[in-house]
Amino acid sequence: MTPACLKCVICGKEFSASARNYTCGVCGQDGTLDVIYDLKAAGKNLSVKSLSMNNDRSMWRYSDILPVENTKNIPALSVGFTPLYRSAKFEREYNVSEFYIKDDGRNPTGSLKDRASALCVAKALDIMDETGAAEPPVIACASTGNAASSLAGFAAVSGIAAYIFVPRNAPAAKVTQLLVYGANVVLVEGDYGDAYDLAAAAIGHFGWYNRNCAINPYLVEGKKTCALEIAEQLNWNVPDRIYISVGDGCCISSLYKGFSDLLELGFIERLPKITGVQAEGAAPIYKAFAENSDKVVFTSAHTLADSISVGSPKNWAKALRAVSRSGGEFLTVSDADITSAIPELARGSGVFAEPAGAAAFAGFRRMARDGKLKNSERVAVVVTGNGLKDIEGAQKSVGKARSCVPDINAFLKLNF
Ligand SMILES: *Cc1c(COP(=O)(O)O)cnc(C)c1O
Ligand SMILES: [Zn+2]
Repeated sequence: MTPACLKCVICGKEFSASARNYTCGVCGQDGTLDVIYDLKAAGKNLSVKSLSMNNDRSMWRYSDILPVENTKNIPALSVGFTPLYRSAKFEREYNVSEFYIKDDGRNPTGSLKDRASALCVAKALDIMDETGAAEPPVIACASTGNAASSLAGFAAVSGIAAYIFVPRNAPAAKVTQLLVYGANVVLVEGDYGDAYDLAAAAIGHFGWYNRNCAINPYLVEGKKTCALEIAEQLNWNVPDRIYISVGDGCCISSLYKGFSDLLELGFIERLPKITGVQAEGAAPIYKAFAENSDKVVFTSAHTLADSISVGSPKNWAKALRAVSRSGGEFLTVSDADITSAIPELARGSGVFAEPAGAAAFAGFRRMARDGKLKNSERVAVVVTGNGLKDIEGAQKSVGKARSCVPDINAFLKLNF
């Protein structure tokens, strides 16, 4: 539905939802905007009952509370409604009453980012309709890898040109995805922060449409469908605590937005404690939280989990709010924790996560081992990206396979 307005997360100033100004004119880049709906009006159409009869098994089953004007602009690539698995094994091992894994690596390009890219492409086509332009706007983004490969896929299916800026050391699988989808790819000699700055300059120069979840407020709305699905899959009885890894802070903010909308609609009774997991070497939001500061100090970033290797997070204000308002916390995990979490999660649940996806599980494991979880707790972990996205990270945890000449005696000598 058409949003009522956009509202600054810092000063609360409201802006018209049709405007293309992306952050608050008063607070600047830190003043990211929330998309506000008339949820009373939305609730006339959308109910627990209407959803139970809705057989659209994609994120668009929630279009009553998504900011898309025209359903014909929804891209053809199916996204969302990813499985939520329950694991009795992890419940036993970590002594919690219920344990769930939301496998968002199952999205079409392999990460949760698809939820935002699908929305971005639909919005770009909305803009074309609104302005009467002959072509949709070119879309551009900077990314550690997944936002890029995701945008490339959705731009391809909707016939929109995409310009993508990624750091030179982005994993090969992600860069290959970009090229396969036919995006215009720039490998920036520097880190994600450098790629971001160059993309911002080019976007400003050419007037491209910005696919960055911190700058473009509509994208967090796409990602919030992950929270809506978890709630619906648990029959509106949300988990006590939910873990997600944090780089820029957009995904964690979108969980908060999704659960908050559901609370206001009256579909759920409380928010889960939203728990953000950062890598030790890239933890500026964790640091601000631990020091009780309301300002994040940018740092350098070093972690093998490339998707959360962010030293200058753009959506820090929303991320801090998500955690403090939901009664959650931030914690950090080491690269060794992340590496060992990959095979443990895969062997225990069948879900192969990329390092940033496994980081959320590593965060849960750490809190459970430290005795910080009650045995009555119901816990969910969001796996944000697929393990095939970055096999180098996974290889570090499992070593090499043994080889054998094609002869049974040689095989027996291997003593498997
Ligand atoms: C983007 C991403 C994250 C982190 O999301 P932010 O919004 O940057 O905090 C985590 N995991 C994966 C796989 C991602 O692609
Ligand atoms: Zn503001």
